[in-house]
Amino acid sequence: MARVLIIGAGGVGQVVAHKCAQVPDVFESICLASRTKSKCDAIAKQISRPIETAQVNADNVSETVKLITTFKPELVINVALPYQDLAIMDACLETGTHYLDTANYEPRDTAKFEYSWQWAYQDKFREKGLMALLGSGFDPGVTNVYTAYLAKHYLDEIEYLDIVDVNGGDHGKPFATNFNPEINIREVTAPCRHFENGAFVETAPMSQKSRFNCPDNVGEYTIYRMYHEELESLTKHFPSIKKAQFWMSFSENYINHLQVLQNVGMTRIDEVEYQGQKIVPLQFLKAVLPNPGDLGKTTKGRTCIGNIARGKKDGKDVGYYIYNICDHEACFSEVGSQAISYTTGVPAMIGAMMMLTGKWKGEGVFNMEQMDPDPFMEKLNIHGLPWRVVESGSLCWNPEE
Ligand code: NDP
Repeated sequence: MARVLIIGAGGVGQVVAHKCAQVPDVFESICLASRTKSKCDAIAKQISRPIETAQVNADNVSETVKLITTFKPELVINVALPYQDLAIMDACLETGTHYLDTANYEPRDTAKFEYSWQWAYQDKFREKGLMALLGSGFDPGVTNVYTAYLAKHYLDEIEYLDIVDVNGGDHGKPFATNFNPEINIREVTAPCRHFENGAFVETAPMSQKSRFNCPDNVGEYTIYRMYHEELESLTKHFPSIKKAQFWMSFSENYINHLQVLQNVGMTRIDEVEYQGQKIVPLQFLKAVLPNPGDLGKTTKGRTCIGNIARGKKDGKDVGYYIYNICDHEACFSEVGSQAISYTTGVPAMIGAMMMLTGKWKGEGVFNMEQMDPDPFMEKLNIHGLPWRVVESGSLCWNPEE
């Protein structure tokens, strides 16, 4: 039984708080802290078990240290924004606390996704005998564990990896993002990078697209190739991979809105002068867009996220597709959130559970695929994200087309 501090009371933080509260045997005491305490209190009210709440500006290491010293958690679950990752890791090091997050560090002034900053903490965490688990959401997160699971049980060598993230949901708004708009738009408008023959290859954002037919009647969607952070760690930890790509579905409506916003300069992340004040257009845009945490009420449909891994087994060519399908309305009735927040928050809780029960142990900084996938995969089935494996030949999609 352990004490856990959750930082960030947005869409994902709400799910993590609900899911941790559902497992009192592991999460004995929970504190939910965020920049705006009223948001933590509103979430705490939805949960039948008492949980503590607190205000913290996690950009400020000494504030987080003070909170950790008062609440004394074994683990901090960071579901604030990627900008806070390093400051929260520093606070964990200072207080001797384990760390988990769902998205890699990004500097505010460059939309650059890479693990180098957090991997650089390897020795610091090892020397203190602490564990930092990076990217315990769905993608990254479950997609890393899926890869490790297929590598352990289905293939001797993975040669081609395609991660396909389809959101077949409709929130009924003219334009909204499924998670934090600023982070989402930075990710989508960044240059695409995929891995091929030992190196990352850069192409223009959203320049490669394909159609993907999801199983179980989720439907057929247009998917766009883009860069996603798990490609960096997976190609490092599975060196047999010759080509790795990440694909995400977007509606024509989303793409059109995004193009207009880009054309008029609203997705810029540099400061502009406005009526004597400096503002960042993308941050202003976030303030006027719907809050993803509020989309649960109106979102219908299902997500379908999975990995297609092809390679060799006993010298023969084989391929498998492993995936989860998640229903937006079912998530809303369970925890009051749509499926994007749910599919991120559940793996964050399970990652925390792995660490706190000693199923996953380590000293240093780890990506999910470095751990034994089996106990995590077992918990996905129990805690709301069941998965299936099928032969990839059954899919009506060839990533090489
Ligand atoms: P939200 O914007 O809904 O929530 C972020 C929360 O963090 C807000 O409550 C915000 O406070 C709080 N916060 C921001 N800055 C600070 C700070 N300096 N100190 C304390 N709290 C702060 O985002 P989401 O819940 O949608 O996303 C949370 C994280 O999950 C993001 O890092 C995102 O990238 C990641 N994610 C990962 C996915 C995966 O599959 N791996 C998928 C989706 C998201 P306030 O309310 O005051 O603004």
